Amino acid sequence: MKIGISKKIVGPYGVGLSLFLFLVIYSYINLISLSLLLNENTEIADRVKLISDLQIIIQKLVMPANDYLITGDKKERETFAQLNTELSSIFANVKLSKNKTEEEKVIEKEVENNLIKLQQKAMVLLTTENPVGNKEAGRLMEEMDAFADGLTNLVENFHIIAKGELELHSMEASQINKRTLKIYIILLTISLTGVIVMTFLITMGVVRPLQKLTKAVRTIGQGNLDYRIEIKTGDEIEMLGGEFNNMTQALKLKNDEIKKYTDRLEKTNRQLDQNILQLYTLYSISKTITATFEIEKLLNQIAREVEQALKIHRTNIMLINHDKSELYIAAGLGVSESAMEIRIKLGDGIYGWAAMTGQAEVINNPSQNPRFKAIEGIDDNVSSMIITPFKGRGEVIGIINVYKLNGEYFDETSYELLAAAANQIGMTLENARLFEETKTLAITDGMTGLYNHRYFLERINEEFERTKRYKRSISIIMIDVDHFKKYNDTHGHPKGDEILKGVAKILKDTVRKSDTAARYGGEEFVIILPETGGEEALLVAEKLRGEVVAHDFPGGETQPLGRVTISVGLASFTDGLKSFDELIKNADNALYHAKEEGRNRVCT
Ligand code: GH3
Ligand code: MG
Ligand code: MG
Repeated sequence: MKIGISKKIVGPYGVGLSLFLFLVIYSYINLISLSLLLNENTEIADRVKLISDLQIIIQKLVMPANDYLITGDKKERETFAQLNTELSSIFANVKLSKNKTEEEKVIEKEVENNLIKLQQKAMVLLTTENPVGNKEAGRLMEEMDAFADGLTNLVENFHIIAKGELELHSMEASQINKRTLKIYIILLTISLTGVIVMTFLITMGVVRPLQKLTKAVRTIGQGNLDYRIEIKTGDEIEMLGGEFNNMTQALKLKNDEIKKYTDRLEKTNRQLDQNILQLYTLYSISKTITATFEIEKLLNQIAREVEQALKIHRTNIMLINHDKSELYIAAGLGVSESAMEIRIKLGDGIYGWAAMTGQAEVINNPSQNPRFKAIEGIDDNVSSMIITPFKGRGEVIGIINVYKLNGEYFDETSYELLAAAANQIGMTLENARLFEETKTLAITDGMTGLYNHRYFLERINEEFERTKRYKRSISIIMIDVDHFKKYNDTHGHPKGDEILKGVAKILKDTVRKSDTAARYGGEEFVIILPETGGEEALLVAEKLRGEVVAHDFPGGETQPLGRVTISVGLASFTDGLKSFDELIKNADNALYHAKEEGRNRVCT
């Protein structure tokens, strides 16, 4: 710090105050000098008047003696005495008068001596006997006149000296006045210049930096923490600016730190959001999985969850078929109906490739991908897609595909979510398949693949009740292989099993989807034909019988009828029937008749 603000302000004021004090003292001294001069002047003026009086009285003092010489009147002595008293008084005052020069004092002494002589001369004349016409007295009178004139002249010197003194004084006073004026003008000029210089200095050294500081603080206050105050005044303002800079820097550091924290927090938040979305989707999927054991429903639900989580309008799940040669669409959203039927060879196109390699792929602008073969109804308007294969029991069993259309693109989050979802799908799909298989096993006959007896009973119960309630029709067909014991005996049990499988296949292939073909027991089968009357059922029964007899079963020629044949009993619902047991019984009876009548035939 060079010069502080206080010094900058107090300095000029100090100089100004000193000048003012000097002016006051100087004026006071001049005033005293002038007043002294004035006093002296008054004194001199008084003295001059006394001297004039003295001159007059000297001239008057001669007159009584002169008159006495003319008239001889002794009263002139009294007049003289009066004048003499008056003169003494005036002279006494002259003597009392102060501030006389040495020259005046000499003259005064001489005047005093001469006055005594003049008085003596007058006294001599006034005491002269017979003055009138007295020649001697007349001569003395002349002598006294001359002496009085000389004295008057001597007194006149007083005048001259006093006048000179007065002139001197007036000259001195005017000099003092001139000098004072000069000093006043000089001081005024200095003061004015000082005021101007001071104003300039305060403006440049204090006001401007303060304005700069204010502007800087406002800028910093508006959030510009990179702003630095540049003030080089070398005083408290510069210090203040420096402190502001330090404060701003500290603020900036804190601000940067806060920003860093906020960024990290935002990132964590985003991550958390993603995690929550991921967890929620996985939760929804697993909820779906536990709630649904049917694979088709399950996959459709998963597709919907993924669609909602990723906010997309098209997704599909493709599964690899049993013989691991093709992909088919198991569930799809936003996929055209015709595309749902499509089959893709493993290794073919991007889907086939991903399913074969198990490699997930994010493909932006797929039309530019050399492996991409657009599939109508799936790949229309796609700008970004993610293909994620999933595994079951260690090998790829399918892929899940999601699409963004018309210039929109997926981000990393979607990819991660999909990877997690795919993993989940793979695991649970296997579980669902296992469950399906278990469920199927429970109602299927292991050897023939037809439904088992228990399932047949469930179905017939349901269908019979429905038929009765809605007054519909239903038929059942009972089948028994002819002379099967014989076949077993001739060809062995395993070969007999093959016959049962063959017959079962004919049944499966012949009946409609809505019909239920089941293994009733041993080498007996039963078929439920809902919504089917006797005539129609007879056609089915005949057809079955015909198919079996026409089929070239190995070893059929050793059978009593020369071929493997079946006997068929048919029963249809009639109003009198109360329970499905009666219907089965009727069919059984019909079968018995068929056997009775020679086998390889249908009886109703
Ligand atoms: P038919 O019915 O023409 O009167 O003569 P059948 O020889 O077929 O007589 P039945 O119906 O009484 O005989 C049933 C035979 O079917 C008995 C048994 O050896 C055979 N059988 C039953 N279940 C099986 C099976 O699961 N496998 C094999 N190979 N044979 C079976
Ligand atoms: Mg039998
Ligand atoms: Mg039999």
